[in-house]
Amino acid sequence: MAPVLGAIADDFTGATDLANTWVKAGLRVVQVIGVPAPGRAAPEADAVVVALKSRTAPVDEAVAQSLAALSWLRAQGARQILFKYCSTFDSTPQGNIGPVADALLAATGGEFALVCPAFPGTGRTVYNGYLFVGDLLLSDSSMKDHPLTPMRDANLIRLMEAQSAHRAGLIGLDTVRAGPQAIAARVAELKSDGCRYGVADALDDDDLLTLGAAAQGHGLVTGGSGIGMGLPENFRARGVLGAAVAPVLPAAQGRALIVAGSCSTATRGQIAAAAQWPARRLDVDRIASGADVVGETVTWARSAPADLPVLVYASAEPGEVAATQAKYGTARAGEIVEHALSAIATALCDHGFTRIVVAGGETSGAVVSALGLRVLEIGPEIAPGVPWCAGERGGRPLAITLKSGNFGAPSFFADALEMLP
Ligand code: ADP
Repeated sequence: MAPVLGAIADDFTGATDLANTWVKAGLRVVQVIGVPAPGRAAPEADAVVVALKSRTAPVDEAVAQSLAALSWLRAQGARQILFKYCSTFDSTPQGNIGPVADALLAATGGEFALVCPAFPGTGRTVYNGYLFVGDLLLSDSSMKDHPLTPMRDANLIRLMEAQSAHRAGLIGLDTVRAGPQAIAARVAELKSDGCRYGVADALDDDDLLTLGAAAQGHGLVTGGSGIGMGLPENFRARGVLGAAVAPVLPAAQGRALIVAGSCSTATRGQIAAAAQWPARRLDVDRIASGADVVGETVTWARSAPADLPVLVYASAEPGEVAATQAKYGTARAGEIVEHALSAIATALCDHGFTRIVVAGGETSGAVVSALGLRVLEIGPEIAPGVPWCAGERGGRPLAITLKSGNFGAPSFFADALEMLP
């Protein structure tokens, strides 16, 4: 059956987060990495998420990739498109959220789209058009100092209008809580005022479900994974989707490998909690000096006890990361680490390590690309926003999970591996 829902996600772990949301709503979901060739058919699924790496790409490139994803998804039969961005609205004054939304709206022939990054499960809520992270305004949260997309304003209407060519207005909490009809009336009002975007308040999952119901018939919806929650029900109620199905765990039987490139507090805590397993930390200076750190690490991992997971990480404290970045440049430091981690993951995968946990958004992108994975089938959830996925390399099944740096409890690595049969 053709997918009814299609999504375009601006990064890999964000794509998995949305796919996970739809799996929890009982959908069969696949994630494709990058835009498949035009003639290539989507795997059998109710929803397909196209994972792009467009969040911080040049605007033109992000728009072109997103439009290519849109035309592929529509060719597969997708009836509604969700443009998925981060629940902290990660973007610069130039974009890419606004320009991509404008282009998708024009290409779908739509006149209006919701804007709602809320993800209450992880503390991201929208009130009066302001985005909160826990108790803090976005602009007071740690996102204000993000290296690539520092968020210095929390007002989503201002942020959207600064990036987009169109006007945006508010769909306030009272309207949302008054139900889908009230939302539809407000949308009509905003449209007649010349707005193309409606920034929607949402404090909890019920608000997101109401907004999802109100989005019936919208060709394009934009937001975080939360706004995806209510969309499947519109199709189910009309008999377009089959009964809910339970996700299946990936079947890979090989050895377990954990690869961490995230330096976030959560990931560093998870590494500390995995002290009972063989672990090796990569030395960035040695890699940069040309030492065969990849080869050494692969040999070491293969000789580690086969019944234990092996942990390979580059993660370091902020001070050390800053020193490394000062020495090599931020981009180059990231590349050195990502290249080494993905080369190690690939070599070990070919030596039977077919259960792989990856920590870090950029790191996940690098590893998935190096492994040559094009399609991931989404399985059950390990922690909020993080599912197990099934892939294939060289004809052999692979279990892989891609964890955004800050997600997961300290026991995440063990939790993930214990779930596998
Ligand atoms: P997160 O999801 O926490 O943002 P990412 O993988 O997206 O994690 O980003 C972490 C970045 O930091 C990657 O580019 C990674 O290569 C880089 N990195 C990891 N360890 C180090 C280190 N010791 N020094 C400098 N950069 C590092």
